[in-house]
Amino acid sequence: MAKSMNKIVGCPSCGILEEFTAYPSIVIPTDREMRDKILDESLFLWRCGACNYETQMVYSCLYQDKIRKFIIYVQPKDEDPAVLEQIPVDGLEHIKKRIVANIEELKEKVLILEEGLNDYATELVKTALTQVVTSKWGVAPEKSFYCGIDHDKNTIEYVFYLNEEDPPVYQGIKMDVYQASLEIVESIVTKEPNAFLRIDNHIAQEILAAHRHMQEEQQKEQAESNQ
Ligand SMILES: [Zn+2]
Repeated sequence: MAKSMNKIVGCPSCGILEEFTAYPSIVIPTDREMRDKILDESLFLWRCGACNYETQMVYSCLYQDKIRKFIIYVQPKDEDPAVLEQIPVDGLEHIKKRIVANIEELKEKVLILEEGLNDYATELVKTALTQVVTSKWGVAPEKSFYCGIDHDKNTIEYVFYLNEEDPPVYQGIKMDVYQASLEIVESIVTKEPNAFLRIDNHIAQEILAAHRHMQEEQQKEQAESNQ
């Protein structure tokens, strides 16, 4: 069983005090049942025993996969950054270290890293697909996540939430697009710092901007050498 911690929380709906079990550290392969709780998004779920109110209780949690060599830190939105700085990274140079903010991001990151994909590249693909979805539905999605590879169709699949009410839409694209994205990433990100990193849409935008800049420079050089 995974290490657990019992906390007393007040129900945000009816105010009754109830117990809540938190799992601050999950180690794979030992805590396999906790991985299932991530994939069905129930890890942080808490239900009030008195009024059945349900909510996500996000707390800091360190997820370590010793087989595939990655660590993901779930950092609650309002947490002091000093907490993360206390986690030692010495000797972890060759282990991917990531930061996420909630259960959906944790699930996405676990799926990406278990599949052995480069998460910078999956974010680049997501950026491209977001444009496809936005023009198709006439609305920019509120959130989106990698969901898997379809080996029969040779596509990489994502889910897009257009708004709170409607069911999500699924959109995939050929793996060639992932490979092209990976080439872009590898031309820009040549060395990763030994630190916990947040690899998200902002990073994807930065890489795309750097890539565009590099292409422009190359075109300029070519134009000059042709003169
Ligand atoms: Zn309640």
